[in-house]
Amino acid sequence: MNLNFVSEDKKTGRMTFMLKDTNPAFANAVRRAIIEEVPTMAIEDVEIVKNGSALYDEIIAHRLGMLPLSTDLKGYTPRDECDCKAAGCAKCTVSLTLKAKGPAIVLASELKSKDPAVKPVYGDMPIVQLLKGQELEIECVAQLGRGKEHIKWSPGTAWHEYEPTITIHTDKVTACKDKLPPQIYDKSGKIDKKLIVGKLVDACDGACDAVTIERSATNIMIHVEPWGQLSVRDMVTKALDILSERFTEFDAKFSDA
Ligand SMILES: [Zn+2]
Repeated sequence: MNLNFVSEDKKTGRMTFMLKDTNPAFANAVRRAIIEEVPTMAIEDVEIVKNGSALYDEIIAHRLGMLPLSTDLKGYTPRDECDCKAAGCAKCTVSLTLKAKGPAIVLASELKSKDPAVKPVYGDMPIVQLLKGQELEIECVAQLGRGKEHIKWSPGTAWHEYEPTITIHTDKVTACKDKLPPQIYDKSGKIDKKLIVGKLVDACDGACDAVTIERSATNIMIHVEPWGQLSVRDMVTKALDILSERFTEFDAKFSDA
């Protein structure tokens, strides 16, 4: 099996890569490892010191938990595997505090983190609105976790598709003009194969005889969209490390059996 880089969107961080000579079971194992197994940092414990806002403590705690935090995978150990026996120490947890006074919309950027490497990725995400005289004071603890425990720890989403081979049948194009998506035509009005990407491949599939799509059974493209805690490169590398560890463990146990 080969892994090939296909494309990257620098603005959104989205990336597509291709597994060649593979099968759906393996591609799905990679996809699930990315979504559920790659650890990230998220707020887990919240102590509400003051909450004069209109939102219940639980809603604010939930909103804080869902904020994507930039993650330093090498700097932290999962809390339940730490030497502190999950009591919480600098190796496994980060403290963040928040103090705000109304009138204001409290933003994620107002959380003060003890570690500059672990902080909200999107500072302009609103947490709560405070009216005049209302106050909020919160102490939080963030820790590593996995998407299979709670989706707040998932680093992004991933989906796969079979590699498409696109064929344009020029003799049938005129009759099909209204049945195909307008985005696939170039400025001169001709169908450009390079423009048939993403959702447009499915939109063209079966729409009319001018464009036919054939899907490979063994070449599978994996699209990955990050939520921001980690780059797609880090997500994929970590997912492959985790799978590799699992297979080694399985192999060792199988050989001993
Ligand atoms: Zn610890």
